[in-house]
Amino acid sequence: MLTLTQSPRVLGDDLLVTLPDGTVTEHVNLDYAATAPCLAAAADAVNDILPWYASVHRGAGAASQRCTLAYERARQTIGDFVGARADDHVIFTRNTTDALNLLARALPAGTTVVGWAGEHHANLLPWGNTVWLPVPRTAAEAVDGLATALADLTGPAGPAGPLLVTVTGASNVTGEVWPVDELTAVAHRHGARIVVDAAQLAPHRPVSLAGSGVDYLALSGHKLYAPFGAGVLAGRADWLDAAEPYLAGGGATAFVAPIADGDLVAYAVDWNSGPARHEAGTPNLLGAVALAAVCEVLGTADRSALAAAESALVERLRSGLAALPGVGELRTFPDAHDRVGIVSFAVAGVSASDVSTHLATRHGIGVRDGLFCAHPLTRRLLADAGARAGTDLGSSAVRASVGLGSTEAHVDRLLDGVAELTR
Ligand code: PMP
Repeated sequence: MLTLTQSPRVLGDDLLVTLPDGTVTEHVNLDYAATAPCLAAAADAVNDILPWYASVHRGAGAASQRCTLAYERARQTIGDFVGARADDHVIFTRNTTDALNLLARALPAGTTVVGWAGEHHANLLPWGNTVWLPVPRTAAEAVDGLATALADLTGPAGPAGPLLVTVTGASNVTGEVWPVDELTAVAHRHGARIVVDAAQLAPHRPVSLAGSGVDYLALSGHKLYAPFGAGVLAGRADWLDAAEPYLAGGGATAFVAPIADGDLVAYAVDWNSGPARHEAGTPNLLGAVALAAVCEVLGTADRSALAAAESALVERLRSGLAALPGVGELRTFPDAHDRVGIVSFAVAGVSASDVSTHLATRHGIGVRDGLFCAHPLTRRLLADAGARAGTDLGSSAVRASVGLGSTEAHVDRLLDGVAELTR
């Protein structure tokens, strides 16, 4: 099991909350997919650097030098964690949304993007010229659908321009893991690159750019037990170095000088290459240090044991929900498909917000309800789940998600709370 004693420790595993009836109870966090709790090691790393907190890449003093070193070491550690190739860039961003927007802006002119219509909005809305494939029913259908789409796009005349495939590593709605290795092989066979939205995958499973051949990967620190506002885009340097800087400003510039042009003064700028090109402004040192601390801990943890323990919790949750009348689980792929610690469901006749309010106010449990920033997918999966259950499951869902520190007792408490609503 993922227990408090065996897995790396997170903060907040001992919080007490007072329920509206005055009962004091343990707070049960089952909302890791939205934002995970802070790993103790991340908090320690931040506390260690705080007395030295000073500018990064902007000062000769000892504190600045130390902070600059910590920031660049963090880049290296995170690069190792995501299996970055020697010539990949690891660029600090605010989160996955920011990382994918950065890549979308860095695409060479004429790039066609290929993705699936059920993506999280962060991987749905930033892209320009995109071919959206229908949400597949199986992993094999995803791979075949991509092969057909890329064959059509490349045709006998060859591709009209660069191609980029975008896919989530693990769904934030269902937890289902997408067949990234197979999709990467298909993409590369057709001369396309691939970016993986690893926001939900990286916290639960090892990821490796070099190992998988994936070209770009985006993730969020706050979902990876590292709050303080850092995310990462890692991957191939060439498009990133050729692109206009994502943010214009100090730090991204090697040289700036005015050019007189009549009454107008414009500025000649030589932009940096490398990560600095897209990291203008004072960087988020604490976010970088926190994320690197997590990468160090998870990088040396027995991740297959953690994943196995998590799978056992997920199966306990899924089978418990399946046994409740009028409860339908959302899924895209067949029942037995591999998934990370995320389960979404709906209860016939009880709105999702009433379910989550009941869980919070009667049981001290935190879950998320809504459409999870994946509106098209969640609506469709709700309709599918309703059809399977032969009932109307309403217009939004409840999502329970687990991770480091989650226990069987937490899952059972959720099941008890949901069971009360189905009686
Ligand atoms: N992709 C997926 C799969 C997600 O789950 C999320 C967050 N819910 C995002 C992207 C966006 O992450 P962030 O809000 O940290 O930018």
